[in-house]
Amino acid sequence: MSAERNNYDAAFARLAKSKFRTRFHLSDGDRQYVARVGVETIRRHCADFVRDRLAPANPPNDGKQTPMRGHPVFKAQHACACCCRSCLAKWWKVPRGIAIPAARQEGIVGFLMAWIEREFSCHIRAQIPTGARS
Ligand SMILES: [Zn+2]
Repeated sequence: MSAERNNYDAAFARLAKSKFRTRFHLSDGDRQYVARVGVETIRRHCADFVRDRLAPANPPNDGKQTPMRGHPVFKAQHACACCCRSCLAKWWKVPRGIAIPAARQEGIVGFLMAWIEREFSCHIRAQIPTGARS
């Protein structure tokens, strides 16, 4: 688990440089939803979204398949640049036009779930107003 987390640190550091990507955070409602249904259920939803909406060689509606809100995983996908095939290609060098292999899908799911976990551990800090003095 900690080795896995270290692998994602470089990716999270890259994302942290993007104003657009860092805008996305789980809301209180999102966090309550995760707490209510449980992380394993969220992971299953995440795997379904990745398989059905991203993994096909030519996903339906590509570029618009991930809503901005409505599920914690959608926010994770925007925050992690895993929202569509062009973002996956640009950020993570996932080739377009061919199906994403199962192992790579699992990697994407692990990454998205790591972001969701971070939102839980960081949310107190995230709520501090940016103008606050230290
Ligand atoms: Zn995208």
